Parts: sequence; C-alpha cells; structure tokens
Amino acid sequence: MTDATKTLCPYCGVGCGLEVAPPAQAGKATNRDAEGTPIWKVKGDRSHPSSQGMVCVKGATISESLDKDRLKYPMMRHSLDQPFRRVSWDEALDAIANRIRTVQVTQGADGICMYGSGQFQTEDYYIAQKLMKGCLGTNNFDANSRLCMSSAVSGYIQSFGSDGPPCCYDDLELTDCAFLIGTNTAECHPIIFNRLRKYHKQNKKVKMIVVDPRKTPTAEAADLHLAIRPGTDIDLLNGIAHLLMRWGHYNSVFIDECTSGFSEYAEVIRHYPPELVAKKCGIRLDELETAAKYWGQSERVLSLWSMGVNQSSEGTAKVRTIINLHLMTGNIGKPGAGPFSLTGQPNAMGGREAGGLCHILPGYRLVKNPQHRQELEQFWGLPAGSIAADRGRTAWEMMTGLETGEVGLLWVAATNPAVSMPDVERTKAALLRSPFTVYQDAYYPTETAAYAHVLLPAAQWSEKTGTMTNSERMVTLCPKFRHAPGEAKADWEIFAEVGRRLGFVDQFAFQDSAEVRAEFIQVTRGRVCDQTGMSYQRLQAEGPLQWPCPDELLVQGLNSNKVKIQPSNPKRLYTDLRFPTPDGRARFGAYHSRGLAERPDPNYPFILTTGRLYGHWHTQTRTGRIPKIVQMHPNPFIEIHPRDAEKLGIQDETWVEVRSRRGICRFQAQVTKAIAPGTVFVPMHWGALWADGAEANALTHPESCPDSLQPELKACAVQLLPVSAE
Ligand code: SF4
Repeated sequence: MTDATKTLCPYCGVGCGLEVAPPAQAGKATNRDAEGTPIWKVKGDRSHPSSQGMVCVKGATISESLDKDRLKYPMMRHSLDQPFRRVSWDEALDAIANRIRTVQVTQGADGICMYGSGQFQTEDYYIAQKLMKGCLGTNNFDANSRLCMSSAVSGYIQSFGSDGPPCCYDDLELTDCAFLIGTNTAECHPIIFNRLRKYHKQNKKVKMIVVDPRKTPTAEAADLHLAIRPGTDIDLLNGIAHLLMRWGHYNSVFIDECTSGFSEYAEVIRHYPPELVAKKCGIRLDELETAAKYWGQSERVLSLWSMGVNQSSEGTAKVRTIINLHLMTGNIGKPGAGPFSLTGQPNAMGGREAGGLCHILPGYRLVKNPQHRQELEQFWGLPAGSIAADRGRTAWEMMTGLETGEVGLLWVAATNPAVSMPDVERTKAALLRSPFTVYQDAYYPTETAAYAHVLLPAAQWSEKTGTMTNSERMVTLCPKFRHAPGEAKADWEIFAEVGRRLGFVDQFAFQDSAEVRAEFIQVTRGRVCDQTGMSYQRLQAEGPLQWPCPDELLVQGLNSNKVKIQPSNPKRLYTDLRFPTPDGRARFGAYHSRGLAERPDPNYPFILTTGRLYGHWHTQTRTGRIPKIVQMHPNPFIEIHPRDAEKLGIQDETWVEVRSRRGICRFQAQVTKAIAPGTVFVPMHWGALWADGAEANALTHPESCPDSLQPELKACAVQLLPVSAE
C-alpha cells in the first residue's frame, strides 16, 4: 500500500472524493499530528465528479482521526458496574449468538434490535438487512438516518411512488433560482455550497432564497433571507403557491399531463393569502411576494433542504409541500430544477438502497408490500413468510422497548445514541435498563460505550473495501488502504459471522466485500435504484457512477413498476416526466400547517433550535479528537437575540441555564442578531464525554412525524435563566 488511493470522505452526504497517500510517500513534507506521529496525507480528488478536488476542513483533517482512541479488541462484561475484559472474537460472537437464541425463545424475534448508521458502507447495510429482516425475521433494524432524512424518504415515496433524489450537483450550476429551506449548506454541506455560491456570484440574474430562522453563513449569501418563525414552513410554502396561482405562474400542461391531486391542493392553498401568511411566518409581505416572484419568473428552480425540514413532527408534509411547488411549476426532470434533499451522512443514500430503515427492504422495496417480501425471501433462499409483514421498531421505539422490557438485545453499530437521540437523559436511562447491549464501533471511549455489555472493534472506511452513495446518487468505490488496528473487522464480516453461527451458512458464505456487492446489486435489478451495471470492477475502471445504472440486459427493458430504465449513468430521474406510481403521475399532497409539536408558553417562552457547526461532525467521535477542529469550536454555546438578552440581563459569555420539560443544561451566551427574537440556538455536537451538562438533546423531545417517524429534534420550548459566572 504505497500509492495514493482514491476514496471518499467519510463525513457528510456531499461525498467528496479524496486522494490519500501513506506518510512515508510524503517525504520531507510528512504531516504529523500533535503528538508527532506521521499521518496520512489527504487531498481532494480532482477527478471526482461530485467535488472536483474540493474538500472542507473535515475532509482535509480526516487522517488525524485514523489512529486516535481506536477500539482494537473485543471486550465483554456481565454488568455495567464491572470493568471490561478482553475476549477473543469467538467468545464475543458466541455470546451474541447465544443471546439471540435466548431472546428468540423468551421474547420472540421482536426482542432483537439493531441500530446502525449512515457511516456503514452499503455492503455493511446489506448484510445487516439480510441477517435481521431475512434470517432473524424481525424488521427491527433502524439507522441514525431516522433522525436525519427519513422525512425526505417518505416525502419522495408519497409524491413520486419511489424514494430517490431526482437531481444532481450539476443542477447547482444550471439553475435560475436556488431555494434553500431548512439547510445551513455553507456549514453543513460546504462543498455543495461552494459550487452554488461561485455560480451565483458569477451570474447576477440567478437568485438565491434562504429560509431559516437564523442568519447563517448560508443566509448571508442569499438575495433573499426569509427568517420565518420555527414551525411555519408549510404556511410559507402554501403562501408562495397561493401567489403563484393568483399570478398565473403555474404550468397547467404539466399539472394536467403528469400529476394527480391538484384540485385538493388548490383548495388548501386558497386558505393561505399572503397577508395572513407573512404575519404568521413573522416576515414582511414584500419578502413573501419577492420569494413568489423569484419562483414564478424562473424557468428552472432548484430546492435544497436538509434537517431543518426533515427533523419535524410534520416533516413528510413539509417535504411534500416543497415538492408541490415543483409540480405546480413543472420544475422537475430538467437541468437546473427539482426538489433535492441533501443527506447528512456519507452513505445514508446507500442505506436507503440497501433497505436500512425499519420500514423498507433492499432495492427500494417496502416491508408492507407482500410481493417485495416474497421477492427477497426467494432471492435469499429463505422459507415464505420469513420476513415479517409489519415495520420494525424505530430507533426511538427501541429505547422505549428497553423501558418496558420488550427488548432483550440491543446491537448498536457506528452510532452514538447516548448523545444523538432526543430526550437523551431518558435515552440513557433506557440504555441502563438494557439486559444485553452490543456496541460495535471504531472508537473508544464514546458516550454509548458506557452502556455496553459487549464491545466489538469495527474497521472503519479506510480499512475495508466497500461502496458509498452520496446525495446525488453517485456511487464511489472506497478501497481499503490501510490495515485495521488490532483485531478490528468490517461491520459486514461481523454480521455474517453471527449469521453463520446461527445456522445460516449458505446465506453468509461471502469471501470478500466484492461478493457482497455482487449479490446486493442483483436485488436492485429493475428497481429505480438499479445498480446492476456497477460492479467493483467497473467502478474501479471508470470511477464513480450515478444510478440508475442497469447492466446491458436491462437497458432496453422495463422494470416491474413499468418505469423505463434510462441508459447507464443518468444525471437526473424522471426526465421522461413519468413517475413510478401506478398511473405514472406524480402526486400533489395537500397539507395545512400544524406548527410545532411543543409550542412556547408562559412557562417555556423560547423556542430552542439545534444545529451543526462547520468543523464538527455529529457527536464528535472523530472530530473531537482532531486538535484543529477542537480549536475552531472549543465549547458549546447558546445564541440569543440582543433584545431577549437585555430583558433577561444576559451578556456575551454569561452562563445561561436552559430548561425544557425534560432536562436542564448550561451554556455560555453568544448575544447576536443572527438569531430571531424568541428563538435560541444550540449546536448539537457535545455529549457527556466532551461537555457534561451541555448536551442539546437533554432538552429536545421525541414527538415525531406520523409518516416518517422522524423526531422533531429541531425545536422545543425552553426557559432561560442567567446564572452567576463559574
Ligand atoms: Fe467531507 Fe462533506 Fe467536507 Fe466534502 S463537504 S470534505 S464530504 S465533510
């Protein structure tokens, strides 16, 4: 392993290409970490079509995290008050297999749960689905994508008949109007934003609208910033639609020929006159009219969104209401236009393709569809009825299942629920009650490791070969370029070893990850996410490819949904304006605004919103170990508007006690006009390991969207109290 390896950044869903070279090759220019250890040299891969050689600070410093605090050996303990002892892989895996058998007998398959991650490669995801949903007969597999973009999944499925973002990054440089809602793209998806900002600066006629209660760096770059009140997104979107109708800026040919449900939608938006909407959203009437004018006058509108839309108790409704605007104006299936959900994690998209949520199955299939279950049972060589007909437990329902004693085994891999779940004190209390928790990760310690009975060391992206799909459906082969530390193994290998121990020898007879991928791509055959033309060999030879990418046999054919499979490597979905619904039409969804699940009141008068910072990634399992990033963002804080601060006697750096109905935290204040009066902001990256007593999710609640089951992590009601300096 002496040459530079082309791979993918393992942080966010932008999916930037990296070139990584070993320390020795860098000669005199060898980079060293703070302790003087030589580190792998990383630069952007100019040949990667998604990122074109660009990387942000996270990608640029990734190699500093490769060897820090790695979990190297399996460990076990009988109870949480005991120290861990090192054990062999055989002992650890036998213990897990035995526990699974016991739970099957005493509690049934529903007592077994696995909580995975968008950090998995697609091969890891696929084998986990085969083990849990196929062999063990429980759909209790959920991923942290549930907290991230499951509303986008359900919105796409309900509107188009299938999941799958229909756009590509080239659309950022082809649009007339970029409509960014609930996304701080400049900080959370920086390379996408770089491409958009450069194009926007160079093309004066191109408009950028940003909808966000905070004046983020993204909002600062916009032509129009709509600082709406949290929870009024649907009011705003219906209000824009109302004006487009009033002004005749809609595409009646597209509506008539390509959609259904418009009349119900028209009836709903009738109730959103601009004066009422502007007042409810807390913006000026002329701002609303300008937004509608930009929409109406643009040939090509591209919407971008992420957690600000998805993490909501009406997340699916918000996604569909965004899509409605595209259907109304015919802004889909053409360059520079479409509703584009940005995924948070590096392989959240691959997880969707592999069925990595509790209601879906590999190949964009649905648990509730008997034909889909049957197809997989046959393909996996399992008896009819092996796959349960009901969806499994969501991540949150796994925690409540621990509370009630219904869950007898919880297997957590590559995610850190003791920081990232809503109502995190309740989450921790549930984890304390778990009779048997397996925690599989690359790093130790983490907050969740403290609740484990078995620790399994996982090889991370650099130490195993696999594929990842980014937000624009681009699949990149990520070859192993270094040895895993100690005895760490690829996640898929660990799942397969447990499967074989449980008697599923034929189902898990894989020699390597190429064989796993060869099987996985067969389950995508004929589906919207067809990847049958994307073997390891082809990805290695040609570089990253976008799906649908069927093999030659299917290029001329039709899939089971009667959707024409497009030629290999298309940039956009639905260019023929036919959708994978039974009648081939996209569906309008008519929704009235319901607002926040927990509204401010006299006792809890502020709305807390949470979010991410430029340098940190999620719960800091990697970035908390990189000095440059820690220096950039040393401590958590609370943003508060000067007007509110003055009323409460709060100044910059005053310690503020923040209370919700669930928990109490303390943060130092940053008094800033970037946040609207009545709203406060706290970053979500800090857990007990890095800043005890300043965990944003001690305050949040688990109320969820009824369709996507995604919790409303973005907003809860809080009270503020200045406390004396510490
Ligand atoms: Fe990595 Fe995302 Fe930064 Fe690209 S934008 S380098 S994928 S963290």
